Amino acid sequence: MSTIKKIEAIIPPPAAHMVGDGFRVHGFFPGGRISKQRMSPFFLMDYNSKVEFPPTDKPRGVGVHPHRGFETVTIAYHGRIAHHDSSGNSGIIGQGDVQWMTAASGLLHKEYHEETFAKEGGMFQMVQLWVNLPAKYKMTAPKYQEITNKMMGKYQLSDNKGVVEIIAGEYDNAKGAASTFTPIQMYNARLKMDAEIDFKFPATYNTGILVVEGSVTINNETAQADHFVLFGNEGELISIKASEDSILFVLSGEPIDEPIAQYGPFLMNTMKEVQEAIADVNAGKFGVLED
Ligand code: MN
Repeated sequence: MSTIKKIEAIIPPPAAHMVGDGFRVHGFFPGGRISKQRMSPFFLMDYNSKVEFPPTDKPRGVGVHPHRGFETVTIAYHGRIAHHDSSGNSGIIGQGDVQWMTAASGLLHKEYHEETFAKEGGMFQMVQLWVNLPAKYKMTAPKYQEITNKMMGKYQLSDNKGVVEIIAGEYDNAKGAASTFTPIQMYNARLKMDAEIDFKFPATYNTGILVVEGSVTINNETAQADHFVLFGNEGELISIKASEDSILFVLSGEPIDEPIAQYGPFLMNTMKEVQEAIADVNAGKFGVLED
């Protein structure tokens, strides 16, 4: 018999800020009531709520910057993002797709609105998540997982009431597409009005749900679009009912019980390692990428 997972807070979107000129994000964590370890293994979540970008010939975005010690996961709900990195990889993240980039020992990359999307302009909505790596994987080789919507395991609700897309982990018998370094469950639940669904995650896992679209009742509390539901480390069961057509970004993971030292785009265990990362970037060890 599992017990109801306690809701610790339903957090409204913090004031938005720009990342480069292409991402207008609400930084849900770390910050506010969510400390750097509170959602471990998830370190950071920037949410670009729906925004209409006007057409432009010069794609908006973020120029060349390094990362070391973690993974960036980009989930596109509206619009398309192009990326390039210093090991020669590039690609486009389309609507409904996910890019899972393991920066690990380090790379340089840039993230821009895809050219045609930029030219035409339009609705843009996405999440970028930083997933921490345990010390023993921080200096492994970088890699990419391009996860198209088609590749994700799908759990169909009965009576056409919606679908759970499994990005990582599993739900029922449907398996996620991403390989992860620590146990992680990550889904998009696309629910029709009145759909009901339960999720169960261990009490020890850090768990949250971002309401991307619509409005839902979660364990008898109401959560509106653009709000983040933070669960306490008590109980397992999450019972959801959609009040209207809704999209939920569901995440739960086993905490990484190690110290965190973060500075800018580096997420290490000690400040000495952060300083080494900065020295390595300056020494050109992260490679070369044109702006
Ligand atoms: Mn980046």
